[in-house]
Amino acid sequence: MTPSNPAKTAKQHVDRGVKRVVLGDLSFHTWYHSLYPEELVSKDSELLYVCSWCFRYTCAAGAYATHVKLCDRRTTPPGIKVYEHGGYAVWEIDGEDDKLFAQNLSLFSKLFLDHKSVFFDVSSFLYYVLTFVDPKAPEKYHVLGYFSKEKLSWDPNNLACILIFPPYQHRRLGRLLMGVSYKLSAWEWDPGLIGGPERPLSELGLRSYTRFWEERLARHFLLGPPKGEQGKVVQQKQATMKAAARKTPARERMTVQEIGLATGMLTEDVITALKSMGIVEPEHTRNKRNTTSNDHENAGETVVIRKANVLEWTKIHNVALRDPVREDGFIGEWASGNLQLQQESEG
Ligand SMILES: [Zn+2]
Repeated sequence: MTPSNPAKTAKQHVDRGVKRVVLGDLSFHTWYHSLYPEELVSKDSELLYVCSWCFRYTCAAGAYATHVKLCDRRTTPPGIKVYEHGGYAVWEIDGEDDKLFAQNLSLFSKLFLDHKSVFFDVSSFLYYVLTFVDPKAPEKYHVLGYFSKEKLSWDPNNLACILIFPPYQHRRLGRLLMGVSYKLSAWEWDPGLIGGPERPLSELGLRSYTRFWEERLARHFLLGPPKGEQGKVVQQKQATMKAAARKTPARERMTVQEIGLATGMLTEDVITALKSMGIVEPEHTRNKRNTTSNDHENAGETVVIRKANVLEWTKIHNVALRDPVREDGFIGEWASGNLQLQQESEG
């Protein structure tokens, strides 16, 4: 479910089999046990060679060297490109169409994910793979990580699994993928699909997501809706809110539900982030609710956000307000103009 970290290494299984992987030009330690078939990866094989493009694997250095020269994914991943900016791109891959790729990617990622997951049912998932092309070496592309998403989910899940491969962690790339997952859950569409990651979240996952939500809210409170055509839709939704806020310029009085609608976040996630930020001022009005009500019942509750407090929070936590996701980076049906058109034809 979540990005794990090397600090957990001590806790991992002793019998994890593969202890080290070679992925393209990189070699690094594994963290957890994966489910590679024993006939191909025997229990005592400690080093595994994995193709950095198609994720096929072998224990034999010779076979690996031969494959890398011939790999049919040398130039581009499978699927279609849905996002591209600054050398980073996200590709949507249907697990049904590219089963082997999806299985091999899942097997590889399990080496770094501490949770059980149904890896073999890849056909009911979409995979969003993050790639990078270094402008100084444009002949090669690198896969940095991915997230998966169930095609049909009864819950409002916009993400099932997320992993940035260990050598590429701590570069805000997880937040880039989380941002893309929210965008792709189409929360800007009317009536708007509000979503969030699949539960339960691990401790580390909750921490990563809480930070992502906090930054998303801070950006929303200080900068308003994302730039781009679809921002207008959100602006319309917020018009009433803004009109009310105009009376009290430095403070915004709104409900948790309204914040969720404007940011595409579940109300429970808005509450988690607001609590963690500690920026909500108590509302001393007639709206005061029963204090025994739980978070879900609080969705309609009015909260007061003072912009100065949000700004202070961003300074204390050294938060960059710039969105890691660029609206103009979306391609095809997700591009700003197209989204607007679809919305108009549906409306
Ligand atoms: Zn390959």
